[in-house]
Amino acid sequence: MHCGSEELPNQNVICCTCYSQLPFTDFLQIENNVVEKIFWGRVSLGASGAALFFTKNSIVQLLIFELKYKQNKRAGWMLGHIIAETMKLSNRFMHIDYLIPVPLRQKKERIRGYNQTYIICEGIAQVLAIPIEKRVLYKKKPSLTQTQKGRIERGQNSNRLFSLKNTTALFNKRLLLVDDVITTGATAESACLCLKQARPADIQFVAAAYTLT
Ligand SMILES: [Zn+2]
Repeated sequence: MHCGSEELPNQNVICCTCYSQLPFTDFLQIENNVVEKIFWGRVSLGASGAALFFTKNSIVQLLIFELKYKQNKRAGWMLGHIIAETMKLSNRFMHIDYLIPVPLRQKKERIRGYNQTYIICEGIAQVLAIPIEKRVLYKKKPSLTQTQKGRIERGQNSNRLFSLKNTTALFNKRLLLVDDVITTGATAESACLCLKQARPADIQFVAAAYTLT
């Protein structure tokens, strides 16, 4: 059964052929890579990257789709394993204290049953044994004024999308913020600006996939 079909096989998330054809970016090993440049002039981050290229009608899109809309946690764990294995190839992602999944709004997480970025973190943790801290960063409900504002203006107020609880847990810690897909970087930027209020030693960012724009 080929993974390009609508349903993924039960035992393995994708077949060996598809795995061997995954579009790896090598960003995690490259200083000043495309993902790091996204944040230049917006928020100061440590080494960052994305493991795979995200393209339409690709196996990467299928994995993300399965994870977000088909309740397929195995797709998320696999993306986490892929991130972890690429992290191992670089010395730029060592000594991380906590994985921080980019949060969903509570209502959305309840509907989906889980936060997909937390599942990806579980996959990373299975390989690298880094603890996941999910009780600090929260996504706020959109306020009425926020929803009424235009997209651009909302972007400028993006540091108000998230809030922190238990900030002392992150003080002087080295954090790796984890997202599923990075496109404009607006969400990650906002989350990082919020995390900085907890005064961590360092924030790094990694996504499973980077969207070519
Ligand atoms: Zn396949």
